[in-house]
Amino acid sequence: MRFRILLLSGLLWAAFVSAQTSTNSTTIKEIPGFDLTAIDKSVEPCVDFYQYACGNWMKTNAIPADKSRWGRFDQLQEHNFYVLRDILEGAQTKPKGPIETKVGDFYASCMDEAAIEKAGATPLEPAMKRMAGIKDRQQLMEEVSSMHRDGLQALFAFYSQPDMHDANKTIAYIDQGGISLPDRDYYIKDDARSVETREKYQQHVQKMFELAGDSPDASAKEAKTVLAVETGLAKASMDRTERRDPKSRDHMMTTSAAETLAPNFDLAKYFAQSGSPKFSSLNVANPEFFKQVNEQLGSASLDDWKTYLRWRTINSYAPSLSKVFVDEDFAFNGAFLSGQKENEPRWERCVRATNASLGMALGQLYVDRTFGPEGKARTLKMVEAIEAAMHQDIQQLDWMSDTTKQQAYKKLSAIVNNIGYPDKWRDYSSVTVKRDDYAGNLTRAAAFETHRTLQKIDKPTDRKDWGMTPPTVNAYYRPPMNDINFPAGILQPPFYSKDMDDAVNYGGIGVVIGHELTHGFDDQGRKYDAEGNFRDWWTAQDAEAFEKRATCTADEYSSFVSVKDDKGEVKLNGRLTLGENTADNGGLKLAYMALTDIIGNTPVKEIDGYTPQQRFFLAYGQIWCQNVTDQEARKRALTDPHSPGQWRVNGAVQNSAAFQQAFGCKPGQPMVSENACRVW
Ligand SMILES: [Zn+2]
Repeated sequence: MRFRILLLSGLLWAAFVSAQTSTNSTTIKEIPGFDLTAIDKSVEPCVDFYQYACGNWMKTNAIPADKSRWGRFDQLQEHNFYVLRDILEGAQTKPKGPIETKVGDFYASCMDEAAIEKAGATPLEPAMKRMAGIKDRQQLMEEVSSMHRDGLQALFAFYSQPDMHDANKTIAYIDQGGISLPDRDYYIKDDARSVETREKYQQHVQKMFELAGDSPDASAKEAKTVLAVETGLAKASMDRTERRDPKSRDHMMTTSAAETLAPNFDLAKYFAQSGSPKFSSLNVANPEFFKQVNEQLGSASLDDWKTYLRWRTINSYAPSLSKVFVDEDFAFNGAFLSGQKENEPRWERCVRATNASLGMALGQLYVDRTFGPEGKARTLKMVEAIEAAMHQDIQQLDWMSDTTKQQAYKKLSAIVNNIGYPDKWRDYSSVTVKRDDYAGNLTRAAAFETHRTLQKIDKPTDRKDWGMTPPTVNAYYRPPMNDINFPAGILQPPFYSKDMDDAVNYGGIGVVIGHELTHGFDDQGRKYDAEGNFRDWWTAQDAEAFEKRATCTADEYSSFVSVKDDKGEVKLNGRLTLGENTADNGGLKLAYMALTDIIGNTPVKEIDGYTPQQRFFLAYGQIWCQNVTDQEARKRALTDPHSPGQWRVNGAVQNSAAFQQAFGCKPGQPMVSENACRVW
């Protein structure tokens, strides 16, 4: 099933990298943090540093057939998947204890293709039958509520989040949602690729309805209806760039005001059936969406809405059903949208599904095997060194007044560092897992997660709850929690190795740490205070100075080309990627400052022909060595708040005087920006 964990669905947490959707199946050895063989010496570092650091790697690491992006980052995630497969294969044959039994049975149910084939479309039947029997809008909304309880996304989103003005308390949110394509723009834009995508999407929806048992004629009409309904939802949705401003999502109201705002949603009944505790106020993140869709609910026919809900169900279940569904789902989402040539092997999809459904149980086994207390201690030491660098950086700023600086120190010292894995493991004992019911297992796990997150409503915020599972190769900062989080999965080579010199480790995990810290002070993070409240702690003049600097970065990255192919050229959206680019530039600077504190300015011996300063920047550059399909690059240009690897490297180093000094770059060379942007 294509469930999204609610915790991350409605939100804009600032992660280090966007998730990859697939991986390939060759064995991965340890990935070095510094790789001489990756370097392309035919290019000058001051002309194109990304090409210099990664050129040879890119030449020798073609994208595997079952991938749409392949980078050193993805290689590490792949490595972790092999470890997880080993754990799960052991757990499914010889489980030691209840946690192994649970994840082992889940994995076994996913690997049992014979049983899944035999079941065919039957997992869809109960929902299809219920939906066919819907007689009025009240019953329709009951069905939406039932879908949401099972973790299926449809029509809108309902979740819990900290109160934007009292982060110590978690409250209810309702929000825009319910579309199937990766972004609202897919429904609205008129360029050639968007038009083609909508045509292909409609054909795909038609095929899926046919697989579910409808006639070709009926399916063709249903596909048209789905596109029309979802286009309505898309038009009522805010775009990603607009949503980055917390103000656009800040609309507290009483439940009765929300009910009046959108009477056709029958929200009172919806909330009563949602499985959440009772509450009397909530945040309506996008009121305009509810107003517009309220009209759509009134005007579109009941049959159209029923068709839409059937589609959302088929689409959610497709990856967990028999081969014809999996193949058609892949043909559109993997091959067409992302340029992937073939689907990933079954075991890998099953590891991914277990991690998504029972990740805090699987993660516990992963941590036991791979991550000792010394891993936590050494990471914490680096975090503290980089926090000290940030303190020093703020102190030295000439554009910020002392009044704002005092507030910034306060926020910096309040940041909570979460490293490796949560203090308390999640208890999945109430989730029933059956070895012969994969689709049912997915539903029960998703229902558990939905219920768990809704139980937080009107309770003190649980700041220790993690948003990523331990084997994840990623990291994140959460503005309402004011915390930085580094899962065990990223705390290994190429990011960190006990066998590597400080320069390489600071260029790797050091920059990741600096990146997450900087998120607390990027264009979005700066609007939250030390407690995680959305509150302005800046003097007007300092805010203006900040915005001027941020605009420099936004304009700079807007000039970078993300993809150029036969469908034309796409440039980066500098406003969508502003927070991440700010964090990359800040992270690089802070990690370099912390490294300088350790090695001093005295000459240090070269290793492999590079000074420590050069090794620092090369390690950073090589984290981002990657190849990506044109289709995937186009998708990311619209949806991903991160810049592609090339610009994460060249964008940041061309703003860095330390880089230019390390490689002796001269004014006028491409890696020396004429108008260097610097926020932090
Ligand atoms: Zn980030």
